[in-house]
Amino acid sequence: MEPAPIIIVGGGLAGLACARRLQGAGVPYLLLEASDRVGGRVRTESVQGFQLDVGFQVLLTSYPAARQQLDMEALRLGRFQSGALIRRNGKFVHLADPWREPRRFLTAALAPVGSLADKLRLAWLRYDVGRGAADALLERPETTTADHLRQRGFSPRLIDSFFRPFFGGVFLESELQTSSRKFEYLFRLFSSGEAALPAGGMGQIPAQMATELPPDRIRLHTRVRAVSAHSVQLANGDSLTARQVILACDPWQAQRLLGATDTLAAHSARVLYFAAPSPPINAPILVLNGDGQGLINSLCVPSQVAASYAPAGQSLVSVSIRGDEHLTEDRQRWDQVRQELTAWFGPQVQAWRELQMYHIPHALPDQSRLELPLLQPRFTQHPSGVLLCGDWQDVASIQGALQSGWEVAQAWVSNSN
Ligand SMILES: Cc1cc2nc3c(=O)[nH]c(=O)nc-3n(C[C@H](O)[C@H](O)[C@H](O)COP(=O)(O)OP(=O)(O)OC[C@H]3O[C@@H](n4cnc5c(N)ncnc54)[C@H](O)[C@@H]3O)c2cc1C
Repeated sequence: MEPAPIIIVGGGLAGLACARRLQGAGVPYLLLEASDRVGGRVRTESVQGFQLDVGFQVLLTSYPAARQQLDMEALRLGRFQSGALIRRNGKFVHLADPWREPRRFLTAALAPVGSLADKLRLAWLRYDVGRGAADALLERPETTTADHLRQRGFSPRLIDSFFRPFFGGVFLESELQTSSRKFEYLFRLFSSGEAALPAGGMGQIPAQMATELPPDRIRLHTRVRAVSAHSVQLANGDSLTARQVILACDPWQAQRLLGATDTLAAHSARVLYFAAPSPPINAPILVLNGDGQGLINSLCVPSQVAASYAPAGQSLVSVSIRGDEHLTEDRQRWDQVRQELTAWFGPQVQAWRELQMYHIPHALPDQSRLELPLLQPRFTQHPSGVLLCGDWQDVASIQGALQSGWEVAQAWVSNSN
């Protein structure tokens, strides 16, 4: 008889990474997922022939765990152009990354979104965070990203027109209260790789990971109600015995299952998708709201990055918004966003069709503090004996989820040999 399996609770990227490592080591396991599919917060839906990622997300080609664990070639990645197009004072200004595009060196130096001193500080920041091991950045003194940028001497103009919409979009919080450690770590990854979208949408990432796992090792529609180190109780009342229980849920579910009284704060995300007869910009680049007013934080045309995001002859426009809590109706959001877009791109916006709006209340855990003991290794043993992995055990991101899930399985495999 096969020994009791390791039970992994949660089939997001962390749970899948954990399962794949155990599969590779020939260790019996069972992955229990509450919903009807694996992937967790990484998900793509097909709507009227468009591929809509549930929340705007990108994969960085520099993520070490993605390079190690994914078949990047099979994802047929479409890549964003480096830098950003910044909407400021009624104009679009290209903030190029001169290291990636040396021919744009002068454009970058002269771009009116920051002083020349700002550009030199950017160069120093890039050099400084690029030295040594990436993990060493997580041990540097910690403050908020906003304070850190001020300490580095960046002008309010560059902070408000570039860092705030860009990293506000990454952290899903515009005040930049997120840990400076996370900022430096992600800045390094953004500087050393490209932001990309798989041809099949972001959901192709978990789909690819799941193809190597035998179907009888994954149980969908299986919600876990209670956990201990060696057993789980399911919502339907059944109990399962495990050699070890590994919790790979999102932080909020995990903390609930562990009976935590204090739960991590969550950052939310909202994205609006439009179908457009033609793209409003002719480059695969991120557009940032550098004025700090209005609902729009950033915008891009995913079909310019990977053509398969839209049916032939049409374009997909993705608009990420923030600061919309005062609006009670989605209709108000659509109307206000369309109004802002019309100011940016003119009357063509009237022809855009509303496709879908997604609101993800629990998109990212608050990481204004990154606790070092949690980061090395990237998982925890709870006092109950349950092992915890997932993005919240690391720098919350696709990288963090993949790394954490892999490391918890690796530690288990190493210890049991
Ligand atoms: C809108 C948005 C934008 C993002 N942008 C980016 C980006 O651009 N780049 C980037 O790197 N990262 C981004 N992220 C973060 C990234 O998607 C996550 O950090 C990562 O996917 C988390 O994976 P996970 O496996 O740790 O958790 P999850 O994906 O949350 O997976 C947990 C799984 O556990 C299951 N589960 C929960 N409770 C139970 C239970 N009781 N029983 C059984 N199963 C349960 C859930 O159904 C889920 O499938 C973004 C996230 C969002 C939502």
